[in-house]
Amino acid sequence: MALTGLDIFKLLPKSNCKKCGMPTCLAFAMQLAQKRAELSSCPCVSEEAKQALEAAAAPPVRLIKFGAGAGQVQIGQETVLFRHEEKFHNPSVLAATVSDGLSDDELAKRIAAVNALQFERVGAKIGATAVAVTNESGSAEKFAAVAAKVADNVKLAMVLCSDSPEAVSAALAKTAQFVPLIASANETNADQMAALAKANKCPLVAKASTLDALADLTEKIKAIGVEDIVINLDCQTLREQLYGLTRIRVLALKKAFRSLGYPTMSVVATGTADKQVAAATSLVCKFAGIVVIETVEPSAFLPLLTTIMNIYSDPQKPVQVEPKLYSIGDTNANSPVLFTTNFSLTYYTVESDVEASRVPAHILVVDTEGTSVLTAYSGDKLNEKAVADAIKKFNVEDIVSHRKLILPGYVAVMSGKLEEATGWEVMVGPRESSMIPKYLQEVWSNGGN
Ligand code: SF4
Repeated sequence: MALTGLDIFKLLPKSNCKKCGMPTCLAFAMQLAQKRAELSSCPCVSEEAKQALEAAAAPPVRLIKFGAGAGQVQIGQETVLFRHEEKFHNPSVLAATVSDGLSDDELAKRIAAVNALQFERVGAKIGATAVAVTNESGSAEKFAAVAAKVADNVKLAMVLCSDSPEAVSAALAKTAQFVPLIASANETNADQMAALAKANKCPLVAKASTLDALADLTEKIKAIGVEDIVINLDCQTLREQLYGLTRIRVLALKKAFRSLGYPTMSVVATGTADKQVAAATSLVCKFAGIVVIETVEPSAFLPLLTTIMNIYSDPQKPVQVEPKLYSIGDTNANSPVLFTTNFSLTYYTVESDVEASRVPAHILVVDTEGTSVLTAYSGDKLNEKAVADAIKKFNVEDIVSHRKLILPGYVAVMSGKLEEATGWEVMVGPRESSMIPKYLQEVWSNGGN
């Protein structure tokens, strides 16, 4: 929990010497609390106070990174319980499992299936961000061999899932350079697992079935010298898991309980693909930093990835596309021109419906600061001047020979003023984007042009 200005003031020398550039220690404390000043500006603060202030300033949920190069991921460093309070910072990592019990053929197919879990949605690339190698064979050699094969063939961050220190040690001998996340240390193997994590500079998962046991375990691991910890509350039911994850976040954020101030990992290993994705989605919504999931069904992954994308987008900043003239299909000077706003979801919906029409068309995207058509119109961000300016800015008059502009049906009311401002004939398009194909095929192609 962040310190208030008065809390900070109590730790300052209170000499009002002004060396920090502030007239009083209280003024400096207030600036520090608002993160407008650095503690280093006060040369008089005691070492003890410095340590207390630095510890209080540390993020309530530690930032953990694992994986190497372009495959590196990071989780944690969250500061709020609810997205609307600010935003969530580091999206949940989805790790698809690869078992070391598979035959060579099955392993090759599974690796291909994991690599195929990449999608494009509203212009962004989304997909599995980690792969979890599981030690179902019980053999250290097999586990190490499969981990090495996965590391060579999957360019994602890796989780080594085994409770056996021997198996993890063998796998680390071949994969430590990829900085895998070691899962997991428990009450019985914590000393050995922590020693492996420390020696190989890898983060470590602490696994226990109660919050008290988890807190004890993280303190034990920290005492051995491992600071980068992920916690796994190993519950019997999804309900217990969700309740526990919520308590962990509340304790970390509201009570500054450092022993549980780490990102979390959950495992969804059983049930149909649909049930797995339902459980994983619930876990993502309740603060799971990593979800290890057994299914590699694309139809299950995509909704889960969409959930993560939505939850971890900044609620203050709508996802936007670049305002410009987009050409869809093999357009020419006679192709229709539709306009819409630069709210990403709006644009990609219109784009896919124009594509579906098979009528090559231009889409003029007007800058409305990422708001949808009706929101932009009601906020006066979408008006005749904005559209006329966009026509000029993107040289639309040089690109098409006609002067016909199709406007979204929901803002038909602006057609008169738009004709005056642009000199173009304004055609009222459909209200729903899904009607664009019919409109272009029947209205535009039969006389609209
Ligand atoms: Fe107070 Fe330190 Fe600023 Fe001096 S330099 S006024 S002691 S905060």
